[in-house]
Amino acid sequence: MVGFFRTFIVAAAIAAATATSVAAAPLKVVASFSILGDMVAQVGGDLVAVRTLVGPDGDAHVYQPTPGDAQAVAGAGLVVVNGLGFEGWLDRLTGAAGYRGRVVIATRGVTAQTMVEEDDEGGVSRPGRKVVTPKRIDDPHAWQDLRNGAVYVRNIAEGLAAADPANAATYRARAQAYAAELKTLDGWVRETLEPIPADRRKVITGHDAFGYFANAYGVMFIAPVGISTEAEPTASGVARLIRQIRQEQIKALFVENMTDPRLIEQIGRETGAQPGGTLYADALSGPAGPAPTYVAMFRHNAALLAAAMRRN
Ligand code: ZN
Repeated sequence: MVGFFRTFIVAAAIAAATATSVAAAPLKVVASFSILGDMVAQVGGDLVAVRTLVGPDGDAHVYQPTPGDAQAVAGAGLVVVNGLGFEGWLDRLTGAAGYRGRVVIATRGVTAQTMVEEDDEGGVSRPGRKVVTPKRIDDPHAWQDLRNGAVYVRNIAEGLAAADPANAATYRARAQAYAAELKTLDGWVRETLEPIPADRRKVITGHDAFGYFANAYGVMFIAPVGISTEAEPTASGVARLIRQIRQEQIKALFVENMTDPRLIEQIGRETGAQPGGTLYADALSGPAGPAPTYVAMFRHNAALLAAAMRRN
């Protein structure tokens, strides 16, 4: 890692020295992960050239930046990140790239939810659980509430406007139209989930990525892995989860697009919970998949959740 960054500093200096700006060239924007990359593309349109670091089906929690990423950051006119501890690798990357430009923190102004992470017990984390050494950490998955998505969009538009003032009015107008689309979708998600009885609104997922969705739309999620996919679930944690699934008769179970599905599949076999499909948690799908944009992702997840909860 150190060797890579040292090599990179030289590459970054060369990139900076050779970078020239052409008036009509699109603004180069680096987004940390695919959901943000799509949002920037929606707000920026043809005025921006977006480079996404953690691409479709990628896991930003455990990402290892490449020399190419550092080069992209060095040449960027704007960097957009989620914040709330999601991109633990980002400061080193921007430091190594010698990047001194603007960084948009998309969650700025969002009310952060926190969760208790159980380090010693391993993996399982839920709010309000009594633990020996509780550690309260921010939940970074704020995009799973569409109202927060609208905050992201506003922050991105202001970042683009500051980096490219000549086109500020266009960015703001596009952001306003996009936020209106998100508001309509938010209403559709609520209507779709509304008829499902309270005692069926319970699902199992791979890791705790849906805390904001849970609060916004009234669905309970439980998972064998905590807020970050870095944590390894322990046998006792999984056994406890299986007991809870049986006690609460949770029948709907989902794998995630960017994490290993094997543990969830095993939990399904042991509890009889039925596989409901793949939820797009921390990343979009590729262009040919069912969730190539933030809007498509949200629509896909909500429809899949509703179908599985209705069936049970
Ligand atoms: Zn996550």
